[in-house]
Amino acid sequence: MIISWTRAQSQGGYDLAQEVVIAHGQPSRPTDPLIDPVQVRVHAQVEGEQCIVQGELITRVTQPCIRCLTDVFETSHIPFREVFSRTSLTREQEESDVVQVQGEEFSLTPLVEQAIYLSIHPQPLCDANCKGLCPHCGVNRNDTICSCDQQVTDPRLDALAAFFEDQDD
Ligand SMILES: [Zn+2]
Ligand SMILES: [Zn+2]
Repeated sequence: MIISWTRAQSQGGYDLAQEVVIAHGQPSRPTDPLIDPVQVRVHAQVEGEQCIVQGELITRVTQPCIRCLTDVFETSHIPFREVFSRTSLTREQEESDVVQVQGEEFSLTPLVEQAIYLSIHPQPLCDANCKGLCPHCGVNRNDTICSCDQQVTDPRLDALAAFFEDQDD
Protein backbone atom coordinates (compact mmCIF):
# COMPACT_ATOMS: atom_id res chain seq x y z
CA MET A 1 0.00 0.00 0.00
CA ILE A 2 1.64 3.18 -1.27
CA ILE A 3 1.25 6.71 0.06
CA SER A 4 1.91 9.63 -2.30
CA TRP A 5 3.56 12.62 -0.64
CA THR A 6 2.24 14.97 -3.35
CA ARG A 7 -1.37 13.84 -2.92
CA ALA A 8 -1.04 14.08 0.87
CA GLN A 9 0.25 17.62 0.36
CA SER A 10 -2.85 18.68 -1.56
CA GLN A 11 -5.49 20.74 0.19
CA GLY A 12 -6.85 18.62 3.05
CA GLY A 13 -4.86 15.52 2.09
CA TYR A 14 -6.61 12.42 0.75
CA ASP A 15 -8.38 9.23 1.80
CA LEU A 16 -7.25 5.71 0.94
CA ALA A 17 -9.13 2.44 1.33
CA GLN A 18 -7.32 -0.70 0.34
CA GLU A 19 -7.06 -4.37 1.18
CA VAL A 20 -3.60 -5.44 2.32
CA VAL A 21 -2.54 -9.08 2.39
CA ILE A 22 -0.29 -9.69 5.37
CA ALA A 23 3.02 -11.52 4.95
CA HIS A 24 2.85 -14.75 6.96
CA GLY A 25 -0.95 -14.32 7.22
CA GLN A 26 -1.25 -18.02 6.42
CA PRO A 27 -0.13 -20.18 9.34
CA SER A 28 2.93 -22.37 8.84
CA ARG A 29 2.50 -24.08 12.23
CA PRO A 30 -0.83 -25.18 13.80
CA THR A 31 -0.47 -22.61 16.58
CA ASP A 32 0.13 -19.68 14.20
CA PRO A 33 -2.72 -17.22 13.70
CA LEU A 34 -4.57 -17.04 10.37
CA ILE A 35 -4.90 -13.38 9.44
CA ASP A 36 -7.49 -12.38 6.84
CA PRO A 37 -6.56 -9.60 4.37
CA VAL A 38 -6.67 -6.30 6.24
CA GLN A 39 -9.08 -3.51 5.29
CA VAL A 40 -7.00 -0.36 5.61
CA ARG A 41 -8.90 2.94 5.75
CA VAL A 42 -6.68 5.93 6.32
CA HIS A 43 -6.34 9.62 5.66
CA ALA A 44 -2.94 10.98 4.61
CA GLN A 45 -2.07 14.62 5.10
CA VAL A 46 1.13 16.63 5.04
CA GLU A 47 1.52 19.09 7.88
CA GLY A 48 4.71 21.12 7.74
CA GLU A 49 7.60 18.72 7.18
CA GLN A 50 5.64 15.65 8.24
CA CYS A 51 3.07 13.38 6.65
CA ILE A 52 0.46 12.06 9.07
CA VAL A 53 -1.39 8.88 8.15
CA GLN A 54 -4.24 7.88 10.41
CA GLY A 55 -7.33 5.75 10.35
CA GLU A 56 -8.33 2.20 11.07
CA LEU A 57 -7.30 -1.36 10.24
CA ILE A 58 -9.98 -4.05 10.20
CA THR A 59 -9.22 -7.73 10.05
CA ARG A 60 -10.27 -11.11 11.33
CA VAL A 61 -7.77 -13.31 13.12
CA THR A 62 -8.32 -17.03 13.66
CA GLN A 63 -6.18 -18.92 16.14
CA PRO A 64 -6.56 -21.95 18.39
CA CYS A 65 -7.67 -21.57 22.01
CA ILE A 66 -4.61 -22.25 24.19
CA ARG A 67 -6.61 -24.64 26.39
CA CYS A 68 -8.91 -26.63 24.08
CA LEU A 69 -7.44 -25.86 20.60
CA THR A 70 -10.86 -24.85 19.20
CA ASP A 71 -10.53 -22.05 16.66
CA VAL A 72 -11.17 -18.61 18.11
CA PHE A 73 -12.30 -15.92 15.62
CA GLU A 74 -11.77 -12.30 16.45
CA THR A 75 -12.63 -9.32 14.28
CA SER A 76 -10.48 -6.39 15.30
CA HIS A 77 -10.78 -2.69 14.58
CA ILE A 78 -7.33 -1.33 15.26
CA PRO A 79 -6.69 2.41 15.40
CA PHE A 80 -3.73 3.36 13.21
CA ARG A 81 -1.59 6.48 13.30
CA GLU A 82 1.93 6.96 11.93
CA VAL A 83 3.96 10.09 11.26
CA PHE A 84 6.50 10.19 8.42
CA SER A 85 9.30 12.61 7.59
CA ARG A 86 11.49 13.02 4.51
CA THR A 87 14.09 15.07 6.33
CA SER A 88 16.55 13.70 8.89
CA LEU A 89 14.82 13.10 12.18
CA THR A 90 15.31 15.37 15.13
CA ARG A 91 15.87 13.74 18.52
CA GLU A 92 12.29 14.66 19.42
CA GLN A 93 10.94 12.95 16.28
CA GLU A 94 13.01 9.85 16.98
CA GLU A 95 11.62 9.67 20.48
CA SER A 96 8.05 9.89 19.23
CA ASP A 97 8.69 7.13 16.64
CA VAL A 98 8.45 9.28 13.52
CA VAL A 99 9.32 7.09 10.53
CA GLN A 100 11.89 8.38 8.06
CA VAL A 101 11.07 7.81 4.39
CA GLN A 102 12.60 8.86 1.09
CA GLY A 103 11.22 9.95 -2.23
CA GLU A 104 7.77 10.86 -3.47
CA GLU A 105 6.10 7.59 -2.47
CA PHE A 106 6.45 5.25 0.47
CA SER A 107 4.93 1.96 1.54
CA LEU A 108 2.57 1.68 4.46
CA THR A 109 2.47 -2.12 4.36
CA PRO A 110 5.29 -2.90 6.87
CA LEU A 111 3.67 -0.63 9.46
CA VAL A 112 0.25 -2.14 8.86
CA GLU A 113 1.75 -5.60 9.40
CA GLN A 114 3.50 -4.45 12.56
CA ALA A 115 0.27 -2.96 13.98
CA ILE A 116 -1.64 -6.16 13.21
CA TYR A 117 0.95 -8.42 14.83
CA LEU A 118 1.05 -6.23 17.93
CA SER A 119 -2.74 -6.46 18.22
CA ILE A 120 -2.90 -10.26 18.14
CA HIS A 121 -3.75 -11.79 21.47
CA PRO A 122 -0.77 -13.92 22.59
CA GLN A 123 -2.93 -16.31 24.64
CA PRO A 124 -6.36 -16.59 23.01
CA LEU A 125 -9.17 -18.32 24.88
CA CYS A 126 -12.47 -19.51 23.36
CA ASP A 127 -14.04 -18.51 26.68
CA ALA A 128 -12.65 -17.23 29.98
CA ASN A 129 -14.07 -20.37 31.60
CA CYS A 130 -12.75 -22.81 28.98
CA LYS A 131 -12.19 -26.15 30.70
CA GLY A 132 -9.56 -27.25 28.17
CA LEU A 133 -8.65 -30.75 27.07
CA CYS A 134 -8.49 -33.62 29.53
CA PRO A 135 -4.77 -34.32 30.07
CA HIS A 136 -5.55 -38.03 30.41
CA CYS A 137 -7.92 -38.93 27.56
CA GLY A 138 -7.77 -35.74 25.42
CA VAL A 139 -11.51 -35.03 25.20
CA ASN A 140 -12.64 -31.41 25.02
CA ARG A 141 -14.02 -30.93 28.53
CA ASN A 142 -16.29 -28.11 27.34
CA ASP A 143 -18.30 -30.67 25.31
CA THR A 144 -17.74 -33.98 27.06
CA ILE A 145 -17.51 -35.11 30.64
CA CYS A 146 -15.01 -37.94 30.94
CA SER A 147 -14.47 -40.16 33.95
CA CYS A 148 -10.76 -39.32 34.28
CA ASP A 149 -11.46 -36.68 36.93
CA GLN A 150 -12.23 -39.44 39.41
CA GLN A 151 -8.58 -40.49 39.29
CA VAL A 152 -7.26 -37.04 40.12
CA THR A 153 -5.07 -37.27 43.18
CA ASP A 154 -5.38 -35.08 46.22
CA PRO A 155 -3.14 -32.01 45.66
CA ARG A 156 -1.84 -32.37 49.23
CA LEU A 157 -0.58 -35.83 48.33
CA ASP A 158 1.08 -34.37 45.20
CA ALA A 159 2.96 -31.93 47.41
CA LEU A 160 4.04 -34.80 49.63
CA ALA A 161 5.19 -36.82 46.62
CA ALA A 162 7.20 -33.85 45.34
CA PHE A 163 8.75 -33.51 48.80
CA PHE A 164 9.94 -37.12 48.76
CA GLU A 165 11.21 -36.73 45.16
CA ASP A 166 13.34 -33.78 46.29
CA GLN A 167 14.73 -35.92 49.11
CA ASP A 168 15.97 -38.47 46.57
CA ASP A 169 18.22 -35.89 44.82
ZN1 LIG B 1 -11.04 -23.26 24.77
ZN1 LIG C 1 -10.46 -37.67 30.41
